Amino acid sequence: LPFALDHVNIYIVDDGNGWAIVDTGVGDDRTETAWRELLAGPLSGRPITCIIGTHYHPDHIGMAGWLTKTLSVPLYMSESEFLIAQHFETHRGAVDGYHRRSLYRRHGMDEDLAAGVIGKGHSYQRLITGLPENFIRLEHGNNVTIGGRRFEVLTGGGHSSDQVMLFCRDDNLFLVADQVLPRITPNISVTALEPLGDPLGRYLSSMATIQRIVPPDAVVLPGHDWPFADLHDRIDKLVAHHRARCETIAQACRLRPHNTLELMPLLFRRSLDLHQLSFAFTETLAHVNYMVAAGDLHWITSGPYWTATA
Ligand SMILES: [Zn+2]
Repeated sequence: LPFALDHVNIYIVDDGNGWAIVDTGVGDDRTETAWRELLAGPLSGRPITCIIGTHYHPDHIGMAGWLTKTLSVPLYMSESEFLIAQHFETHRGAVDGYHRRSLYRRHGMDEDLAAGVIGKGHSYQRLITGLPENFIRLEHGNNVTIGGRRFEVLTGGGHSSDQVMLFCRDDNLFLVADQVLPRITPNISVTALEPLGDPLGRYLSSMATIQRIVPPDAVVLPGHDWPFADLHDRIDKLVAHHRARCETIAQACRLRPHNTLELMPLLFRRSLDLHQLSFAFTETLAHVNYMVAAGDLHWITSGPYWTATA
């Protein structure tokens, strides 16, 4: 990947006479070259049977359009992940439109900073190779068979809209995508598409769902970094991390009302480039929206910026 997080994991799953592919990499020339080499080399003996896209982020489905068209295979996704991908692919203003600028302005940024964070042009469209016209739905509670393995489909919100995860109970093998990562905390962000949304609340409830369905000793295959085997401990740590951030926000807002831009450095202490700042800002807002939804904070919307107070 051409970002600070420099790689994404894709999984090529034995599908009997062929291979099923879970996630695809970002849609750029370098990744296309890697796929061409894989298809002509190690994967050339058997056909690709399908592409499974875990969620709409371009590092995961960037090459899905190219692969499904080149190989004439279907794309499996959850409905809302497919529709949001289509929204970003086809809506010219999805990334740099007025609604995104007004989200940043409302929560404390001046014009210049908002413009800098949004950047120029449509970065999502630059990072994907289009989408097929249709898809096959994966839904929480479904089962899918890939080769000799039966996978239970789990979906969960927070990191994206309704991210797909696959659990093979017989082999105790869990493809978790970006919902739980071993080193970094998955980004949990409010989006301009749903400015009052509560992605952190949806994420925390997804963590409880995973702990209920998947055993603590499952072998976990994530979307970034390495496989791991302490799923429940890792989830406990992630939940504690977000609860600690909420407490930091609560303490600040008990002293005086704060807008989101003022709260951000309390949660993200290192210096951030504009790209990192956009994630830090919308993740801070996710914590505030969660606390507002829980009744722990409320918004004061009368000033130039919305501020949160306890
Ligand atoms: Zn992601």
